[in-house]
Amino acid sequence: MLIATALLVPIGRGEVLAAVSSDLRPIVVSRVSQEYPKLFDLYKHLHAHPELSFKEEQTAARIAGELKNLGFEVTAKVGGHGLVGVLKNGSGPTVLVRTDLDALPVKEQTGLPYASKAEAVDETGNDVEVMHACGHDVHMTVFVGVARLLTQHKDHWKGTLVMIGQPAEERGAGARAMLKDGLFTRFPKPDYCLALHVKPDLPAGSVGCVEGHALGNVDSVDVTIRGVGGHGAWPHRTRDPIVLAAETVLALQTIVSREIAPGEPAVVTVGSIHGGAKHNIIPDEVKLQLTLRSYTDEVRQQTIAAINRITRGLAQAAGIPEDRLPVITVRDEFTPATYNDPTLTRRVAAALKAWLGDGNVVAAKPVMGGEDFSEYGRTKDKIPICIFWLGAVTAESVRESLATGKSLPSLHSSQFAPDPEPTIKTGVTAMTATVLELMGKP
Ligand SMILES: [Zn+2]
Ligand SMILES: [Zn+2]
Repeated sequence: MLIATALLVPIGRGEVLAAVSSDLRPIVVSRVSQEYPKLFDLYKHLHAHPELSFKEEQTAARIAGELKNLGFEVTAKVGGHGLVGVLKNGSGPTVLVRTDLDALPVKEQTGLPYASKAEAVDETGNDVEVMHACGHDVHMTVFVGVARLLTQHKDHWKGTLVMIGQPAEERGAGARAMLKDGLFTRFPKPDYCLALHVKPDLPAGSVGCVEGHALGNVDSVDVTIRGVGGHGAWPHRTRDPIVLAAETVLALQTIVSREIAPGEPAVVTVGSIHGGAKHNIIPDEVKLQLTLRSYTDEVRQQTIAAINRITRGLAQAAGIPEDRLPVITVRDEFTPATYNDPTLTRRVAAALKAWLGDGNVVAAKPVMGGEDFSEYGRTKDKIPICIFWLGAVTAESVRESLATGKSLPSLHSSQFAPDPEPTIKTGVTAMTATVLELMGKP
């Protein structure tokens, strides 16, 4: 996912008290330190061996092996390369913890000694370089650390722990595939679902929570604006799709500014425009690619309807024949908005404050990135879900960025290089604390 820089403030004190005391904290923190060298080796291995979405075979096998060694009952190939590990530990709530597995077609340029040199063939047959540019290698390392900590401290919690490795997050497809393959029917159905994601502008050592909508609806839309091509010197004999595309791109800007109610967040971005081959030829068509973002189903539908109306209406105004009107396709790789259950999120934030300190738990702002973790809260069961942000960079780099106005490398950047030790240690501690909050013995 791609996120914007957010203004961060500490969450208000003492709104909700953590139900389980943080007495275990010193023990867990010291265990995390003991585990760290092995976790760092795992991190370096995962970082150097990234796999693209739908191709996470080796990655999934490695994570499955880690869970099996800890005594989890592991099922592989759930929704593609997804894996489900179940650990039953008496009667109590069922809690699902999710990591994503996939990497991106990005050539790593961090200069790190363990930088990825991996290459792969993408879904269109092109040779690409591959990098964990979204930090899913951090998520997996933290996930394994949490599994180790919780198995070492089984006497402090009860219930059923379901730990899943989800494929194809970057394609917005993996969560849906795992649900379709029986995640909530073949395995114990969770009472809560948890995840975390690294945040590239939040200092390592801290975490960020958002109640309610945390990430947006993501739609990809293809628009083919068709005209009637011909010679560039005889424009009157044509219907020029380039001029029409230019008008359309500008008119689409009015959807957010003039049609969506102020206060309702939405984004319409035309990210790609291609048409024509030569100076003196008016082409037959121009292709646009759009990304749409919103939080609610209503705004999403309103935006899609407006794109259809404006694109079609402008074509008619330009005299495009009925059989050459634009073709508008909303791709089915839709990622729905992530809604963090407010009650669960308050409870998680309170536990995190008790474990990490008030000042290390910030109220992050919602962003328009997408995350298919949302799907686990959108089935008919309406399971409460919560994903929180994990700080991943040095405090100095955040300070320098604020002072100079120079942005830090974002997620998906070839330069994105998390600060591993404090990030992984805080991630393991934070997620372990969260699970203990929900499953801990009073
Ligand atoms: Zn991503
Ligand atoms: Zn991601």
